[in-house]
Amino acid sequence: MKLERNTYQRMVIKEYLKENKTHPSAYDIYSAVKKKIPTVSFATVYNNLERMVENGELVEINDGERKRFDPDLSEHDHFICLVCGTVYDIEKVVDVSKLEKLSFKIISHTTYVKGVCEKCYKKEVSDGRKNNKDRR
Ligand code: ZN
Ligand code: MN
Repeated sequence: MKLERNTYQRMVIKEYLKENKTHPSAYDIYSAVKKKIPTVSFATVYNNLERMVENGELVEINDGERKRFDPDLSEHDHFICLVCGTVYDIEKVVDVSKLEKLSFKIISHTTYVKGVCEKCYKKEVSDGRKNNKDRR
């Protein structure tokens, strides 16, 4: 019985994450799963996510504050906006093939680029203009 319940929970998690490009946190995923399984606990969802990462079904991203999860297993890196917290998909930044030529054996490689996204940058600039006008 226990196993069956676990399988169903995993199925609901997978359904939520399918084609999901938002890089949700464990709490985001828990909130979504809770809508379908009201009795589910955060710990259960979290354990399921950990196991899915171990199984290579999910990629774990650490934005510096909390873990995020990405069902997209294709080769890509992430840009993390320090203002709005959005995690963007970007193409691989570091060409590790150069390292392999130096006979380093690479098991995995993750690069996070942190900064201010275009949306937040534009907002900062226009807010700055507004503030200058107010001061005048
Ligand atoms: Zn942003
Ligand atoms: Mn991604």
